[in-house]
Amino acid sequence: MTERLVIASRNENKVREIRVLLTGLPFAVLSARELTDLDVDEDGKTFEANAGKKALEISRAVGLRALADDSGLVVDALGGQPGVLSARFAGEPADDERNNEKLLDMLAGVPDEKRSARFVCVAALADPLGNLRLWQGEVSGRILFGRRGPSGFGYDPLFIPNGYDKTFAELSMEEKNRISHRGQALLKVRRYLEGDE
Ligand code: IMP
Repeated sequence: MTERLVIASRNENKVREIRVLLTGLPFAVLSARELTDLDVDEDGKTFEANAGKKALEISRAVGLRALADDSGLVVDALGGQPGVLSARFAGEPADDERNNEKLLDMLAGVPDEKRSARFVCVAALADPLGNLRLWQGEVSGRILFGRRGPSGFGYDPLFIPNGYDKTFAELSMEEKNRISHRGQALLKVRRYLEGDE
């Protein structure tokens, strides 16, 4: 029987990207939402702690291997903020529009050459026995002065990866996945699941 693998995230945008990144592997990929109401509290201080916690708790709850990602934007001029607090940067409930507005406000007056930032993603794979593995991906770039582009989610309209002249929100999902923090972390997961790490 095909093994079922659960994506331990309630963020449907992430689930969609992760599904694409796992295409072709011999697993039935399910979203945690389909199996449990459990909502894991992301109270860790690092991406590793949060990703591991989500994967372990969901895996134990549903009795299947679970894949979680914890990710965020690290802005140099803000001493690494919003970091692990990226989703709720402008407070509860999480709201991409307000987060982008807050980021632009905090960077007002910061010149282009000081607007460097990076997206970080830690992917965690856990099994119901409590075994855990972690992989990391990163992409560096800079923060624009205003939003550009219709696709993606989160801070995508404000982020231009180094070497590109388009924001993440102006790239197709395939182009974004090829270079993104999540794409890189998930490529490592893919290799592991394919058996050649
Ligand atoms: P969490 O990993 O669910 O705690 O939240 C990650 C947050 O970081 C998202 O809600 C976004 O605000 C931001 N983020 C993570 N990855 C991306 C991305 O690929 N594009 C834009 N924003 C992202």
